Amino acid sequence: MKLGICGGTFNPIHYGHLRTAEEVRDKLSLDKILFIPAGRPPFEKSGLIRASHRYKMVKLAIADNPCFEVSDIEVKMKGKSFTVDTIRKLGEKYKGSELFFILGIDAFLDLPHWKQPDKLVSLTNMIIISRPGYSFTGLVASPYLGEVRKKTLKELDEGRKSVFSFGISGNKKGFLCRVTPLDTSASAVRNLIISGKSVKYLLPDSVESYIISHKLYKDTSRSLIKEGDI
Ligand code: ATP
Repeated sequence: MKLGICGGTFNPIHYGHLRTAEEVRDKLSLDKILFIPAGRPPFEKSGLIRASHRYKMVKLAIADNPCFEVSDIEVKMKGKSFTVDTIRKLGEKYKGSELFFILGIDAFLDLPHWKQPDKLVSLTNMIIISRPGYSFTGLVASPYLGEVRKKTLKELDEGRKSVFSFGISGNKKGFLCRVTPLDTSASAVRNLIISGKSVKYLLPDSVESYIISHKLYKDTSRSLIKEGDI
């Protein structure tokens, strides 16, 4: 099985996450996409609500897609969740499957600051997707791009190439993948909610209803993550 893995805080999940995951699944013929909400991310993220809420919203958002699944592997983890540990565990759980970790250009740029980045790229294939505000050309100094030439990055930015694969580490591959630009972020969604504005068409109705019924993001003292929470 070719298994795509989407990690993130999903605070909350929005159509930027969902549509890009679906496009990647389609373009690279992945069998399944596993969404993994972070329990406690290694880096402080402002306005982060309890993992149990974020997990339930992902579950609601993907309910109608048979190729999408959610995992509670990081939500259940005690302490901070590090991608390299998660991928190691998934490698054991899905022995015989090919793993593809999916992340936006913004997240890939940050990779050198993650725990054991060299180990991580040796454990899984990586799919780096386009995101508004970031360009493939901006990855030119990344230590993980190997032989990829600037000309190729430019062709991806200009839409003359849609997918480009390269050797990233050992027998693992990296894929640079252009997806429909959707300028949506979870922080923009949260800011709209805080200012009492509509978030319709930015995320699934089921997720919007969940946010409203649990009064999430509006009254931060009720929903923010606390020590010992999941
Ligand atoms: P926040 O605004 O709170 O920082 P976010 O919208 O960036 O959140 P995350 O859960 O932090 O969402 O992101 C998880 C992954 O999804 C990252 O790899 C990120 O690059 C990617 N991603 C999120 N939104 C988009 C988007 N609109 N287009 C492409 N990739 C996206």
